[in-house]
Amino acid sequence: MINKEAYLSISGKLAEKKITLVAVSKTKPVEDILALYNLGQRDFGENYVQELAEKAQQLPADIHWHFIGHLQSNKVKLIIPLVQLIQGVDSLKLLKEIDKEAGKAGKIINCLLQVHISGEETKFGLDETELDEIMTSPSKFKHVHIQGLMGMASFTDDMNLVRTEFKYLKILFDNHAKHPTSNPEKSGQAIQFQTISTGMSADYQIAIEEGSNMVRIGSLIFGERK
Ligand SMILES: *Cc1c(COP(=O)(O)O)cnc(C)c1O
Repeated sequence: MINKEAYLSISGKLAEKKITLVAVSKTKPVEDILALYNLGQRDFGENYVQELAEKAQQLPADIHWHFIGHLQSNKVKLIIPLVQLIQGVDSLKLLKEIDKEAGKAGKIINCLLQVHISGEETKFGLDETELDEIMTSPSKFKHVHIQGLMGMASFTDDMNLVRTEFKYLKILFDNHAKHPTSNPEKSGQAIQFQTISTGMSADYQIAIEEGSNMVRIGSLIFGERK
């Protein structure tokens, strides 16, 4: 069961600010996704390839699927025909694989680079050096559009820490948005920095205060996951 009131309130506020709401539907049934779709929602996020593929098959074709989880290289081929945006590009190896498979499919795939912004060991993501490496060699990638950055804050109640992590991502974003290679003319279209994807149910308001323009919200809309 979706929380219709919460959805309408959140999506209304975000629309006013031109912030993209990705409704995170992982583990939730297609009926719930369809209920939200019928309220006008089009962007949905999933973090397992198989689950996304099964749901996409049963749901309207104009849904924009966001892959928000850790993507294994051997699953890239499967996801390419289905996905609007791959949010969690967390290694150079993965980006190369996406570029290769997108090329074979004759597609250009939209990607966000996932940066490791929390102090936690377990979170996936690029460090600053790896980010620089990708950002300074965009001509290597002919079949991806790098549209910005994605980050996940620490899993904590300490909202000051969370805020600091979001601020850090915004600084990286601004630095790279100014970088000459983010200029489409110089980067051969590979890099077009426009999106900062941060913020989940618990911290999306802070994320927005710190510059996010794409939030990924699951439990507030769909209810708690088991
Ligand atoms: C599950 C998930 C979300 C949504 O989490 P909620 O706390 O339910 O809003 C956002 N981003 C990623 C990457 C996720 O895996």
